[in-house]
Amino acid sequence: MSHSGTPGGQPGPQRTADRAPALSEPARAYAELVAGNRRFVGGAPRHPNQDAGHRAAVADGQHPFAVIVGCSDSRLAAEIIFDRGLGDLFVVRTAGHTAGPEVLGSVEYAVTVLGTPLVVVLGHDSCGAVQAAREVAMTGTQPQGHLRAVVDAVLPSLRRAETEGVQDIDGIVDIHIAQTVETLLGQSPVLADEVAQGRCAVVGVSYRLAAGAVRPVAAVPAGFATLGEEAGPLGPAAPAAA
Ligand SMILES: [Zn+2]
Repeated sequence: MSHSGTPGGQPGPQRTADRAPALSEPARAYAELVAGNRRFVGGAPRHPNQDAGHRAAVADGQHPFAVIVGCSDSRLAAEIIFDRGLGDLFVVRTAGHTAGPEVLGSVEYAVTVLGTPLVVVLGHDSCGAVQAAREVAMTGTQPQGHLRAVVDAVLPSLRRAETEGVQDIDGIVDIHIAQTVETLLGQSPVLADEVAQGRCAVVGVSYRLAAGAVRPVAAVPAGFATLGEEAGPLGPAAPAAA
């Protein structure tokens, strides 16, 4: 695999990733996730990159093609719902996909050091963290311990939903997903710069627990998620399904 050197011997930005060409662009990375989710929804997952040979092949370094900033909900396992394997996804999960400093730092590590071209905020219907925050907003009763940090991080989304007249929980979840996309970009100038340079995109998707399908609800650049869909699935057709 060839590296493009920097003319004049100037050291470029610290980008150590030796990216797989097929997944080097944000739109193609998104198309790969959409294709994997469709396999999962259709009950025909390929479970790629989960064999012992691939495990050994990626032991020396990782080049994930997407960062997933997802809710910790036990039904939202990223590698399963996107039908991927070892080395594919850089996953950061917190209750309600709340994005504090450690989350932002993890995203920045993947995007700048590993060269990952796509960040996906993964929320879902009936999110318990959003419901807990709504409970607090309605009753004024604060949760115990550090759970309060989760609720506090979701409350701005509830206020935004109120302003927009959205009352159903899944509508509020969509707003919270979009808000998290904005938080990532607003709180991380590093990520915002990668997006401005066209090296990365940020998409917010909502997952339906029963159906298993994801649906884009926010994207930066605007319209990016539609472009990703049009790019279609990547790579050769599946050989024999296991
Ligand atoms: Zn959740």
